[in-house]
Amino acid sequence: MTLSPLPTKGEDGFYHPTTENEIIALVKKAGNESLEIRCRGAAHSMSRAIYTDPGQGEKPLPNEVSEQKPPKGPNLNVMFDQYMALTWIDEKKGIIEVEAGIHLGYDPEDPTGTSTLENSLLYQAFVKGFTLSDLGGISHQTVSGFLMTGSSGGSLWYSIDENLLALSIIDGNGTAEWFTKESEEFGAIVLSLGLLGIVSKVRLQLTPIFNIYGQQITYPTSPADCPIDLFGAGSAGKLSMENFLKQTPYSRILWWPQEKVERVVIWEASRGTAMPVFDPAPYEEFADNNFITNVEQLGASMIFTMLGNSKFGIVWKKLQPSFAEFRRLTELSWGGKFFAKLMAVLVTGILKVIGFLLTLFFMTFKGLLDALYPTVIDALQPLTKKGKAQLFMDYTYSSLPMDNGANDILMGTEFTEIWIPLTDTQRAMDLLDKMFKEGKFKATGYYSTELYAGKQSSYWLSPSFERDVFRIDFFWFSTNEGNPAAKDGFFSQFWEALKDENISFRLHWAKFLPEYDFEKWAAYFKEQYPRWDDFMRLRERRDPQNIFLTNYWSRHLFGKEKS
Ligand SMILES: Cc1cc2nc3c(=O)[nH]c(=O)nc-3n(C[C@H](O)[C@H](O)[C@H](O)COP(=O)(O)OP(=O)(O)OC[C@H]3O[C@@H](n4cnc5c(N)ncnc54)[C@H](O)[C@@H]3O)c2cc1C
Repeated sequence: MTLSPLPTKGEDGFYHPTTENEIIALVKKAGNESLEIRCRGAAHSMSRAIYTDPGQGEKPLPNEVSEQKPPKGPNLNVMFDQYMALTWIDEKKGIIEVEAGIHLGYDPEDPTGTSTLENSLLYQAFVKGFTLSDLGGISHQTVSGFLMTGSSGGSLWYSIDENLLALSIIDGNGTAEWFTKESEEFGAIVLSLGLLGIVSKVRLQLTPIFNIYGQQITYPTSPADCPIDLFGAGSAGKLSMENFLKQTPYSRILWWPQEKVERVVIWEASRGTAMPVFDPAPYEEFADNNFITNVEQLGASMIFTMLGNSKFGIVWKKLQPSFAEFRRLTELSWGGKFFAKLMAVLVTGILKVIGFLLTLFFMTFKGLLDALYPTVIDALQPLTKKGKAQLFMDYTYSSLPMDNGANDILMGTEFTEIWIPLTDTQRAMDLLDKMFKEGKFKATGYYSTELYAGKQSSYWLSPSFERDVFRIDFFWFSTNEGNPAAKDGFFSQFWEALKDENISFRLHWAKFLPEYDFEKWAAYFKEQYPRWDDFMRLRERRDPQNIFLTNYWSRHLFGKEKS
């Protein structure tokens, strides 16, 4: 095989290959020059889980989600915006082959602007009568990024695993090879964190299209008012949390445990026939009007940034990207022409003045903000009156990812996500309830905690390997001060408490992992995964020169710096 010429590095710091041969050429370059090579999808994982290490003497990237730029230096960071085609292999059976960079849905933050609804996997499938079996809370991700980190939606019934047939992946020697689901190593390849090679193509058998029908209801958490026995084993007429998750096809709960807020927002849905005459009523996370939605999100950004920081100057500085994003969104929603631009600047200017005064006031009288907190959350997330649940019925691609409407900058959210055996749901809920009550804001934070489920998987490094799981996704507003993954950070209290209680857990690989006691945590992870050693042996074989391994992964998986 003759190698294609090497693609050149773009001004954005990425290589943008257009063919598999070009990817192979990049892998060979990395091998020959002892460089690292890593790929990005939509950059929704922690940045250091995605990119290479920086070059010598260059600054490391902040470890954040949605970091669009790679670190500086000679290492190779690859972006697949020119490699995202979808080919129909069998239109009757819904079999497709996609290139690595295809997004599941539209990615509004794609820095190259290549992603559109029309070129997304889900939309192209939809127009031919197909979809994927399950989706995460957003659909901005690329197919490779989603699979490589074991991402999944909130369901014990369905999983994207059902759709996967085969993957073509390029190893550290530059050899591309297909692995089908029948092969033993498929279980390692599908979820391999970019450590076993570069995914080039994915073959899927899609699910015949269905619509989703669901509702969202906000209940108090008090046992008398909540229809789920959140902390108990369930009783006549009231399901335990575990059974609620088992019996609901798609679900997720946002838990606001703070004193005087104490509520759960239950989102639940099931599949239904894609009726030929259908007027979709999409799920609305915010208002059903773009402008109001943007104002709500800007307001939330201001409130959470004030709550999560102690100094006025810092809050004001951190809010500037939110105002810029608000202006951009407003301009877009009003058509993007000259008049829209002018009005967007004007409205943003007015909101900026109001925002400045409010920020100054509340940062001066910080205690007042804490006192008003329950009222503010009540306004943002009111309890549902009987019979007034939000009902939605929609196409899968549009409302199954229920958080697609949340803007990545205005509602910048980072997480640590803990997957525990489903059978330990009650123990974990009890423990959390106790921690939240005793620790108050120090344990609850100001944001909500997401509760959902995951179907067991056969992928060796999946946090749901061989067991159904209960997932606790602790949210962290991205403008908060401090590192939540540090030894005394917000997340560590939960990791340590669950460990002390002997509730065995695994962490979502794309989200925050402990950034302290690396050796201890690497040993802990190893214990949690029965096929850990098999995976690591395969890694050594497929990446003999460690071109896919970075310091980040070396610390988290082996407890030490990359040698
Ligand atoms: C707002 C938000 C909501 C989320 N909701 C959910 C959810 O509901 N459920 C859930 O499980 N997760 C969720 N996540 C996590 C998200 O699904 C993961 O971060 C996922 O990996 C993102 O995909 P991506 O395309 O952005 O990939 P990236 O984050 O860019 O990359 C992910 C990993 O894949 C590697 N990679 C990418 N492409 C390739 C390739 N071609 N070959 C080899 N390696 C590659 C990267 O190096 C990196 O290690 C959410 C994240 C955010 C920020």
